[in-house]
Amino acid sequence: MSECLFCRLVKGDIPSDIIYENDDVIAFRDQNPQAPTHVLVIPRKHISTVNDLTAEDKNVVGEMLLAGKAVAAQDGIAEDGYRLILNCNEGAGQTVFHVHLHVLGGRVMNWPPG
Ligand code: AMP
Ligand code: ZN
Repeated sequence: MSECLFCRLVKGDIPSDIIYENDDVIAFRDQNPQAPTHVLVIPRKHISTVNDLTAEDKNVVGEMLLAGKAVAAQDGIAEDGYRLILNCNEGAGQTVFHVHLHVLGGRVMNWPPG
């Protein structure tokens, strides 16, 4: 697990633009933003994919959603609207195998997503 990119970021071994954090999660700006606001919320604990979540992770999953909401308010996009996305496995476009919630907003979001 020491090789996990986002675990290294949690440890501070990789620089990141952290905009929100608490005991369970951190939120930082995506390095390749797909919208004016593109933030990733991750658990401090390593969990590879949504498929690996268990009942023990209920609290951290809740903290991820609440952090997404807080980030949207902080960036001033809460009222206009924003999207929260969890990509699970390659078929859905997951490239980093440490669970992360995308917070996207600041522009009109299309539906269905590509
Ligand atoms: P996904 O494709 O859902 O796995 O999303 C992974 C996201 O992580 C992509 O949007 C990347 O741009 C982003 N990303 C990868 N490495 C970093 C990094 N070091 N700092 C910030 N964002 C990153
Ligand atoms: Zn990890």
